[in-house]
Amino acid sequence: MSWVPVPQGCGFTVDNLPYGVFEPRRGGSGSGPRVGVAVGEHVLDLAAMWAGTPLGADLATGSLNRFLRRGPGEWAYVRREVRRMLTTDDRRGHCERNLHPLAEVELRLPVEVADYVDFYASEAHATNLGRMFRPGSEPLLPNWRHLPVGYHGRAGTVVPSGTTVRRPEGQRAAGDFGPSRKLDIEAEVGFVVGAPSALGTKVGTGDFAGHVFGVVLVNDWSARDIQAWEYQPLGPFLGKSFATSVSPWVVPLATLEHARVPGPAQSPEPLPYLAEKQPWHLDLELEIRLNGHPVSRPPFRDTYWSPAQMLAHLTVNGASLRTGDLYASGTVSGRAADQRGSLIELSWNGAEPVRLPDGSSRAFLQDGDTVTISATAPGPDGSRIGFGEVTGTVSG
Ligand code: MN
Repeated sequence: MSWVPVPQGCGFTVDNLPYGVFEPRRGGSGSGPRVGVAVGEHVLDLAAMWAGTPLGADLATGSLNRFLRRGPGEWAYVRREVRRMLTTDDRRGHCERNLHPLAEVELRLPVEVADYVDFYASEAHATNLGRMFRPGSEPLLPNWRHLPVGYHGRAGTVVPSGTTVRRPEGQRAAGDFGPSRKLDIEAEVGFVVGAPSALGTKVGTGDFAGHVFGVVLVNDWSARDIQAWEYQPLGPFLGKSFATSVSPWVVPLATLEHARVPGPAQSPEPLPYLAEKQPWHLDLELEIRLNGHPVSRPPFRDTYWSPAQMLAHLTVNGASLRTGDLYASGTVSGRAADQRGSLIELSWNGAEPVRLPDGSSRAFLQDGDTVTISATAPGPDGSRIGFGEVTGTVSG
């Protein structure tokens, strides 16, 4: 138990300790963005706790990258120390002076994103889109069960939760240019790479936790009309690259031991480089709210490809990892209708609009709509680990 109060139902328990970058609203001496850890309704200023040390210098910056570059040994050391500080009276006075109420800080983008990759790892999602876009043919393309399909996205337009998303303009069809009429969301789980790898080497599934630091929630905003017209033969481009929102708190893999589960059965058996000895699938339960109203609860554990398999595939050709790389799962959809992770699936491309409590309905997003994705996962002793949320509002 921590001496910092953690309200009932709050997912930022002392077993969680997610990392973010914050700045006190009031400013003053020692202000500026720095790395902190959330506990209950507070954030502990880690830069202040390690002030005057090289580690403290790496924490007194506007992103987690310098801390992440230090590698898994240092991640474990800091986690152990923070937990000790929050559960014993050893440095309680010093801690109390460096705890800020979350209500009094601004949260920043936690990571300076190096490369951004998006996968397509949910079988239900890939099947739904295949049925909508290629009716009458096999919904999954022949490669889908053999490798985690993915594409390289745009790192520079990964934005922090709360950023307003402007409706993109583009080509909607031949000769038809204007604002997207099919603006959509994709509820995804993102993985933050901490430790780099050398060019020309592979990162095996067993090295997942040696490179990936933690997990964020991702909303991969998507303009379906622009996407549908542009995507063949090279894949998503401007229909995706205008904004990708991420949650402010990076939940360390070390938090998620109780959330580890085997993934779904895979057939055909994956090639040896995609085989997993220790399962690293994760039992995250996502929730999507549209203007405050829950519209879906996608289960991440049903995703066909695991995050360790995605990483192994991403590097099997010798592509190197950089600190700050972000790769996302692709839309997380379950088999049930109320588990779909995008509006195009929830409304079946507009044929079955989603009803909201105010009497309105949505096929796709309207200007002024706010979408919020949150998630929890099992923690120790029946507790729930919280991921916070990623939110964004659409403007015209
Ligand atoms: Mn996506």
